[in-house]
Amino acid sequence: MTSKSLVLAIILLAALFTGCDRSSPDGVPVVAVSIAPQKYFVDKIARNLVSVLVMVPPGVSEHTYEPRPHQMTSLSRASLYFSIGIEFEHAWLERLSGTYPQLRVVHTDSGIAKRSIEAPIYIGDRSGVVGEEGLDPHIWLSPELVKTQATTITAALCTAFPLHATEFRANDSLFMLEIDSLQNEIKTLFAQKNGLCPFMVFHPAWGYFAHEFGLRQVAIEVEGKEPSAHTLGSIFDYARTGHISTIFVQPQFSRQTAEIIAHEIGARVAVADPLAADWAANLLTFTKNLVQQ
Ligand code: ZN
Repeated sequence: MTSKSLVLAIILLAALFTGCDRSSPDGVPVVAVSIAPQKYFVDKIARNLVSVLVMVPPGVSEHTYEPRPHQMTSLSRASLYFSIGIEFEHAWLERLSGTYPQLRVVHTDSGIAKRSIEAPIYIGDRSGVVGEEGLDPHIWLSPELVKTQATTITAALCTAFPLHATEFRANDSLFMLEIDSLQNEIKTLFAQKNGLCPFMVFHPAWGYFAHEFGLRQVAIEVEGKEPSAHTLGSIFDYARTGHISTIFVQPQFSRQTAEIIAHEIGARVAVADPLAADWAANLLTFTKNLVQQ
């Protein structure tokens, strides 16, 4: 029996025994999300009217995560699943819907035109190169795209829990204003610095953020893999001439290659976590780190 079929067997058994009590121990309805920043969005809109279950645990990459059996069984209590378009969802959500017919999957990436992950500039003319799954899934790191996600989340919450629709809509309006002021704060910080340099990051999670604020992301990872020795040489050359003084790593990936590059070119290594739970504060911290480059 493969690990996936074992997990499914456990889910089926759990589904038999958990009945249909779709609420948390304190009686609040449960909704599920894939990653921690989405909990931030749902919490802003639903406040304490729902309890949010996050699937990808701290320290785990959003791209290699596989659900644990106890997490899958805990979904028996959830009535909504807010997907965001990352890898594990493709394999798991369809099976889950079969096991838990009450679980309505809401695709919060709907209405968002995804971009390709650009080939790193130091690779030269390889215009056909795209990374990971081809399209960049990191839509939660652009405040403008989070507004679209918030609208989708609000509509789904209103449909699922119509008694609280007025509160959800009011909270959503406040969240939109918060995002507006976050965008203004980020723009003001960038405006203080004339001529922003490209920023170098191990895993290219910040493409939509870069696009929104007119920055250039340069990834170390190529198509989701560590760079070859040859590519590493090109990175050294580029980083020296491209005025790179900081290399960003994320806690869920090894920082070894970033450390080697930083050492070689005399740059510092800083952490930028695409999965941080305090989404707004995290974007501001990242902005401040970029301005200080
Ligand atoms: Zn990623």
